[in-house]
Amino acid sequence: MNDPDYLLSASAYRELIALCRHAAPEEACGIAAAAADDPRGIVTRVLPLRNSHPDPRRHYRLDPAEWVAMHYRLVRSALRPVAVYHSHPYGPSEPSEEDRRSAFWTGAPRAKEPFGLAEGPGMWIVSLENEASPELSAYAAGPDGLQRSVLAQISV
Ligand SMILES: [Zn+2]
Repeated sequence: MNDPDYLLSASAYRELIALCRHAAPEEACGIAAAAADDPRGIVTRVLPLRNSHPDPRRHYRLDPAEWVAMHYRLVRSALRPVAVYHSHPYGPSEPSEEDRRSAFWTGAPRAKEPFGLAEGPGMWIVSLENEASPELSAYAAGPDGLQRSVLAQISV
């Protein structure tokens, strides 16, 4: 197995799944964060944001005002964003066409990126398609678009 690109704690994983289940049938979205001083960047916190898309069952949009507030909350809490997550209540944990086109991850002009994520966040997708066993997949922007990343859960 390849070295993981992302690490997350078991409790952060449980919280992430719980938040996505709670938001269903709408898509959940938010930030997976690590302690700013953790060199391994282990995700230990999951911070939900409002899905402000007009059709939240099939799309998500980070609310811009909440996003800015979140940025300051992260700084104050000595956290840094590692990934933007969202859920697919009825679909697989693969990026949709819309996810692939999103300016966050396509290398489109940096000015379009959400404030504070210039260093390139991961895209995490939680699939609730199989109710009994949710699936979390991670992706990162590469030269040919989104590439699947390796994500591992660890106990901390
Ligand atoms: Zn999606």
